[in-house]
Amino acid sequence: MNDQLNRYLFADKHARGELVLLNQCFQTMIENHDYSQGVKQLLGELLTATSLLTATLKIEGEISVQLQGDGPVAYMAINSSMITATAENSLNSQHIRGIAKLTTHSDAVGLKNLIGEGNMVITIRPSNGEAYQGVVALEHDTLAECLCHYFEVSEQIPTKIWLFTDLEKNVSAGSLLQLLPDGDDKEQQLVDFEYLAQLTNTIKAEEIFTLPANELLYRLYHQEQVNLYEPQTITYRCGCSAEKCLNAIAQIEPSEIKSILAEQGKISMTCEYCKTEYNFDEQKLAPFIDRTRH
Ligand SMILES: [Zn+2]
Repeated sequence: MNDQLNRYLFADKHARGELVLLNQCFQTMIENHDYSQGVKQLLGELLTATSLLTATLKIEGEISVQLQGDGPVAYMAINSSMITATAENSLNSQHIRGIAKLTTHSDAVGLKNLIGEGNMVITIRPSNGEAYQGVVALEHDTLAECLCHYFEVSEQIPTKIWLFTDLEKNVSAGSLLQLLPDGDDKEQQLVDFEYLAQLTNTIKAEEIFTLPANELLYRLYHQEQVNLYEPQTITYRCGCSAEKCLNAIAQIEPSEIKSILAEQGKISMTCEYCKTEYNFDEQKLAPFIDRTRH
């Protein structure tokens, strides 16, 4: 099964939902890294959560969700871009990547033990428009609860999130339920929302990992009319390139470049996300060494 996100609307209730399943992306994100089980688990949850969050955006653009604190994980970040459908690709899609940086090796498990006292920083950069950033303290025990808290304080939209990760199958999945703030009877809407949340709460990990979206939706909400939209495909894409490395090298003093070349014969850069190594020899670096002469 491809990595995919499904969005749906409850026809008679003021609520919408999402289901996501990530296998290939999760696998690619962790394969070249020596992460502990605990880090993989939390990174998988953050990957899933970010993809759910990205699908709630109504704009094309980039989003990054970062966890940072005083624990053994210095930071953990997932970056994702929303790409709208084109003639070649009829489906909307997400490109996603992620990383965890540790200050010290740790076998700790769980948000609190890995991140410690800290924050979740959500940065949204629309393709057209101003970037904005939301910061919430990590005051709850799970990432799902912290995200719900974010929606509560920054967007004021009741939202529930469920996250599942299986490290044996390298699969990560999740669901989001969100109240649609329209209509008049706010009280009844909240009652309906709680009712749908209770139904969603019965999802079992095995079901979300194996069942096609329409079957799972029927299993959960068979008395509701659920309108399923076209799915979004999700692809792991790092976005690093030799060109971006050269842009960084352009910031280094020519004298420094010369001295690195004299010592090592090349400048070597490794992408911290995907571990791709980029090497630049004297010939490739000539424009950056000669620029003082102009
Ligand atoms: Zn990369």
